[in-house]
Amino acid sequence: MTLHIDPARLDEATSGPRRYQMLIDGKWTDGEVGLEGERVSPGHGIVVSRYAFGSEADVARAVAAARRAFHRGPWPRMKAADRAAVLLKTADLIDARREEIARLDAIESGKPISQARGEIAGAADIWRYAASLARTLHGESYANLGDDMLGVVLREPVGVVSIITPWNFPFLIVAQKLPFALAAGCTTVVKPSEMTSASTVVLGEILMQAGLPEGVCNIVLGTGPEVGAHMVAHRDVDMVTFTGSTRVGKATVQAAGATLKKVAMELGGKNAQIVFPDADLEAAVDAAVFGAFFNAGECCNAGSRLIIHKAVAKDFLAAFEKRAARVKVGDPLDDATKVGAIITPEHLKKIENAVVDATADGASVALGGAGLTSAAGQYMTPTVVTGVKPDMAIAREEVFGPVLSVLEFERVEEALRLADLTDYGLSAGVWSRDIDTAMTVARSVRTGTVWVNTFMDGYPELPFGGMKQSGIGRELGRNAVEDFSEAKTIQFHRGPRTSWWVED
Ligand code: NAD
Repeated sequence: MTLHIDPARLDEATSGPRRYQMLIDGKWTDGEVGLEGERVSPGHGIVVSRYAFGSEADVARAVAAARRAFHRGPWPRMKAADRAAVLLKTADLIDARREEIARLDAIESGKPISQARGEIAGAADIWRYAASLARTLHGESYANLGDDMLGVVLREPVGVVSIITPWNFPFLIVAQKLPFALAAGCTTVVKPSEMTSASTVVLGEILMQAGLPEGVCNIVLGTGPEVGAHMVAHRDVDMVTFTGSTRVGKATVQAAGATLKKVAMELGGKNAQIVFPDADLEAAVDAAVFGAFFNAGECCNAGSRLIIHKAVAKDFLAAFEKRAARVKVGDPLDDATKVGAIITPEHLKKIENAVVDATADGASVALGGAGLTSAAGQYMTPTVVTGVKPDMAIAREEVFGPVLSVLEFERVEEALRLADLTDYGLSAGVWSRDIDTAMTVARSVRTGTVWVNTFMDGYPELPFGGMKQSGIGRELGRNAVEDFSEAKTIQFHRGPRTSWWVED
């Protein structure tokens, strides 16, 4: 496989590297210590962004601004209708800048531009959905506690929320958190990945333009240890919502425990697509190719394990390989590209090593297996590993690259055992025309989402999140705003209480 990267496309996409600043208390600012970062496009091998990076002092400034905005600013106190109006305006401004934002995500993360456009449109839709929820958030009342008592349960914003996001869906993932926190009346400190910060800065510009009061959304740029860890440890932060690796997620939960913060975690996955012989096999083949190679496999939801019935395994794999060979790997800025670049050279090495280790464990490489590195960046050929056994690392651990592991089964119970053998529980797919088989699998697997005869669709209306070590809590869905609120119970007594504790 050869790579053809047209430098003209990148020139069109950027007018030289822009330098991005942080947003603290409504003002654009450099860090107090003067740290700097830069991003080399993984698909083009040249510097495309420079950033002002922050440190503990900037986290302190941002948290103080968010705290002030929470206690004294208008945002938590204004009508939900007015908050919703800001979210709706934000969605319109995202739509207006869709192409620019999509290009930033494509050149910084290496994802295909056509896919990035879909993500930005999807993000705008989520902002609109959050606006609708802002107006329906409500508490409860209890008029059944006796004639002189009325119990009221208010939903109050949780307070200052730290939002930490990864590099694989930079603009989409912040949209799964920030609009719901804002809809609830919270104030926020946001940290994007240090590798893909540009689109989150553009979101900050949009929020200011949409009329978000200063201090309500602060954006601090920088690394996990220099910025993220302080956003988790700070005493004045009430909640941390984090999307990233299970390893950092666990450390984050531990650190947040020191001050008993509320936590929401969206972590890794090792998701199975289980295919039965009675399925529409053509549709299943296409979904298996999509599931394994979408976003170059750098996707928490990747269908990185195919659990295929022995009776159809040979034909299915032949059809899979034929289709996979037609997947266009290449320049993220080419409209026809389906698999773009790998995030860093180090990550490419990790993916390649996972394949080498699998072969050392006794598995075979049926397709691909090697990376493509050149001055134009780093890419990985779509890869299929067959003969995978349940105890191999490739069957259990997240590779986070375009690598499919194939396991075979004969009985439903065996398929279920294979599906659940990992520590993860994010999502699964089942392919069968038989309602009993589909229902048995869908109800048995321990994952937060199950797709039946489809894969990786997403809707703001449907909750998303993981069981087991894939996370804590759910994003999206009708409870998404409630998750950024606290219940406060108020008991109203009619007249003074007359049952004395100490009798006169
Ligand atoms: P990562 O855990 O390395 O980093 C995620 C974020 O945490 C980044 O912003 C990083 O700077 C920050 N961070 C790093 N160390 C930190 C620390 N000590 N304290 C606070 N913050 C810290 O993850 P990544 O490599 O950016 O993303 C890939 C991972 O994210 C994969 O495991 C993937 O499965 C997961 N992911 C999960 C979902 C989901 O919804 N479940 C979605 C996308 C990605």
